[in-house]
Amino acid sequence: MSSSDTSDSDASTHPESRQGHASISTDKSPKSHQSRKRTTASRPSASGDTSTPNHGSTSISDNNNQKRAKMESNTPVVAFTGAKHEKFWFDDGNVIIRVEDWHFRVYSALLRSKSVFFAGLLVDAQPGAAIDINPSGPRKEVIMGCRVFELQGKKRHFTALLDALFGSLLTTEKPISYFTLSCLLRAAHRWGFPEYEVWARTRLERDWSSDLDSDSRCMSGALDRYAAGVIVLAQECRASELLRPAFYRLVNRSVRDPDCTPTQVLPSASSNTDNLEYNHETVQWSVDDFRLSYDDANTLNALFKYAAVKWRDYSSKPLSRDFLSDKARHKKGPSCDQVLKRIWHSLVTESTFADDVHDPISNLKKLADGIDWEGNGVCALCADQCRKIWREQRHHIWSVLTSSI
Ligand SMILES: [Zn+2]
Repeated sequence: MSSSDTSDSDASTHPESRQGHASISTDKSPKSHQSRKRTTASRPSASGDTSTPNHGSTSISDNNNQKRAKMESNTPVVAFTGAKHEKFWFDDGNVIIRVEDWHFRVYSALLRSKSVFFAGLLVDAQPGAAIDINPSGPRKEVIMGCRVFELQGKKRHFTALLDALFGSLLTTEKPISYFTLSCLLRAAHRWGFPEYEVWARTRLERDWSSDLDSDSRCMSGALDRYAAGVIVLAQECRASELLRPAFYRLVNRSVRDPDCTPTQVLPSASSNTDNLEYNHETVQWSVDDFRLSYDDANTLNALFKYAAVKWRDYSSKPLSRDFLSDKARHKKGPSCDQVLKRIWHSLVTESTFADDVHDPISNLKKLADGIDWEGNGVCALCADQCRKIWREQRHHIWSVLTSSI
């Protein structure tokens, strides 16, 4: 058996182009293109530094690991000079996962117990079963006695998963950032961790509630900058509950930011809120995380027009209903249809909120709850009935959103 047991000896190819991740513009990749090269002369690192991938060129020896691996496997031990992830490299881990050329040494039993995907992938990665001893069979990569498995995907997604498994993502008291929740959801969906998929989706749905009357952060506008990203995420991970609030926020946001493009929507990695929130690693986005599909862009455009048309319908003239001119009800004074005609222009049409034609949901709430109709001459009975109608119109628009998406 060769002293080099890796099947990939092309150390000169850039990892992103080799793995088809050319579109990722912001990810860090292992800096040395020699990271995949293994020689018997160099020795593996025992631990990584805190900011950069740890390459074997630093040559901190780990003789114990080598000896143990050699004894356990009875297979030539090959020095490892690849990029170790600084946090998720456990010296007693029994399997190495490689994602975007970063190496993670972890425990196969935990991955297998949580994921059907990994249960299948790592079936022969258990201690004592990891080594390729059949020279005529397919060559299996082994580093330091551990089978190596390469995953297609993004490192930042995989680290969110490992942080849930081995780190503090599930126990932190800080609010978890949208960045980390989206990474965990993508990872859990892709690699089959149903428990974490539900966990991440539930937390996202708290912020992006599809309940019209909820007091979610989304409805307050705090998460506006992520609206396009939530749509992309929801489509990718089949989290359809997130679509309606995200689309509505984007419809509403567009009027304030009419020139927004995916690039401009891209959130800054260093906003104030990011510092207060829990991020499992440095925030990094790619443009694709915020690029709407052709169909979603068309839906957005249609909703944009629908919102404006509906609000102009509702706001251009006073509500017209028979009860407003009911003579029996208005014996003592002018009927409420006359009162409304007199006050509507100044209280509604000329109001500041009415200018925001793409936010009929908030505007109808103002009509129902934000104007003192009785104080302006409308009788209590008519005011109550009008409020009921505006609330119904509000719910109608919200339900139309569901059928449009
Ligand atoms: Zn009345």
